[in-house]
Amino acid sequence: MLTRRGLLTQVSRIGGVGALAGTMHALGLYGTGAAQAFSPPPPGSGKGRSVIILGAGIAGLVSAHELEQAGFSVTLIEARTRVGGRAWTVRDGDRIEMIGEETQIARFSDGIYFNAGPARLPSFHEGMLGYARRFGVPLEVEVNSSRSAYLLGADGSRLRMRTAINDMRGHLSELLAKAVDQGALDTMLSADDKERLRPFLNFYGDLDTDGSFRGTIRSGFRTGPGAGVSSFETAMPPQPLHALLANDQMPMTLFEEMIFMQATMFQPVGGMDGIARGIARNVQGPIRLNAEVRRIRQRERGVEVHYADREGGAIRSVQGDYLICTIPFPVLAKIDADFPLPVAKAIAGVVYDQANKVAFEAPRFWEREQIYGGISWVGGETAMIWYPSAGLHGERGMILGCYSSGERAAAFARRPIADQIAAARAAIDRVHPGHGADCANPIAVNWSKIAHSLGPWPNWHPGAPPSMGEARIDTPEYRLLSEPIGRIYLAGAALSQTPGWQEGALQSAQATVMAIGKAAAEHAVTERAEGAPGRHRHEGETG
Ligand SMILES: Cc1cc2nc3c(=O)[nH]c(=O)nc-3n(C[C@H](O)[C@H](O)[C@H](O)COP(=O)(O)OP(=O)(O)OC[C@H]3O[C@@H](n4cnc5c(N)ncnc54)[C@H](O)[C@@H]3O)c2cc1C
Repeated sequence: MLTRRGLLTQVSRIGGVGALAGTMHALGLYGTGAAQAFSPPPPGSGKGRSVIILGAGIAGLVSAHELEQAGFSVTLIEARTRVGGRAWTVRDGDRIEMIGEETQIARFSDGIYFNAGPARLPSFHEGMLGYARRFGVPLEVEVNSSRSAYLLGADGSRLRMRTAINDMRGHLSELLAKAVDQGALDTMLSADDKERLRPFLNFYGDLDTDGSFRGTIRSGFRTGPGAGVSSFETAMPPQPLHALLANDQMPMTLFEEMIFMQATMFQPVGGMDGIARGIARNVQGPIRLNAEVRRIRQRERGVEVHYADREGGAIRSVQGDYLICTIPFPVLAKIDADFPLPVAKAIAGVVYDQANKVAFEAPRFWEREQIYGGISWVGGETAMIWYPSAGLHGERGMILGCYSSGERAAAFARRPIADQIAAARAAIDRVHPGHGADCANPIAVNWSKIAHSLGPWPNWHPGAPPSMGEARIDTPEYRLLSEPIGRIYLAGAALSQTPGWQEGALQSAQATVMAIGKAAAEHAVTERAEGAPGRHRHEGETG
């Protein structure tokens, strides 16, 4: 059986390790993504207990909502002026602030938005889809691939996805058919198998009856069918095998076969932040926005957090029975916390990846080339062009001219923003000649420079070959950080097997809620024995 890891290894051999490393994280190819059972603490079991939650991204919001269902009282402390964390949708007028860069202000036409972080949800991310359903967040199909999109060869040649996929299939089927016919596979195939395989190959590759591949209408029309008797469709002549093999984007024809990328994919209508906002609407406890955590302390039978009110400048404190910290590790590493040394070291040692996106708005020139959603693969530092799934046949739309990660993204992020935008525009122009100039109102986001994130997701296996992204995350540091630290629980996508997906954040939150439910039940027993009740939430200003 060809595993995903095996597939990626093959892809990296064909396409070059660098190419794979650059796209892998952009594609969100991490751990196993196994479904996790969630058995929440019983309703009422958290009554009289308080939990402070640091960060109102998916992990913080899910924790808050689920704890409240069990009767806990929660307080969320969030540094940004909005909920959602990395689930960030940029709309007209929004400010994009990056460390060391001038502020960019989004200028988008009506209805146009840009998902700077997550932009798609696979069908098997039932947790995220479930919250969307529960809280009435409308979803629509995210068109993750299009047979009309292109693969851009290093020599500038363009191949339509349908041509690349079907011509390659035709050539491989012909080779296999010849091998079968010549008896080269006789030791591996029974006579029965051979007899069944040959007609299958003819169908699979659209071969002629003699087993030759002479082109297929599946790869595109030379002339399309029309009215009347003489306007028959004709097929394009096949691309020679050597031309297909020479295109280093060829492995990306398998993109949509990867389990995280398989149809049907979804997006919330109007922007990915819709789900986070939907959960937030269903959290009762206060969500303190613009509140930056400055100090974290364990106290006897509880926790204390100091945070700065970023508007007024006041430092406030809040105490609770338990604390969930979803602050990304590179940010947390710089916060004054009384973690034991090994924990502090582990937090500081987690390496985060790089990711860049460059978005434009433009008249929908791609639709005139039959492209409705999906991705053209361009390679290099900008990696891809991603077309919008919504607003079809509208006047204008958002087009992504770059989405890359890994090493090439690090180099790209070091370039001036104007150069990044020029490179993305040039890539669009190579695939859609003349249309680079149509791309207006650019926004570039380098996640390594976004305060309160400092990276898109962790890379738990830095320096390992790209296929390690497929490996299970089970390092000593990962294990250590997954354990409670007294009454403090670290949570977030980073502590899941899918650190590049919101579902991972949700799973980590649910696991933490279960752990706190259990701890609270145990503490109740000890406290009853000692006659000392748990503390309630207390907030104050410290000056
Ligand atoms: C470019 C990119 C593409 C992605 N693509 C996808 C995708 O297509 N699909 C998908 O499902 N996922 C995708 N992801 C991953 C997904 O966004 C994350 O896994 C998920 O959103 C993480 O949620 P979280 O709650 O763990 O962390 P975060 O969302 O980072 O939440 C942490 C919160 O802590 C807050 N915080 C930080 N510092 C402080 C402080 N000092 N005080 C108070 N609060 C603080 C932050 O502001 C933030 O709100 C992508 C991510 C990126 C960056």
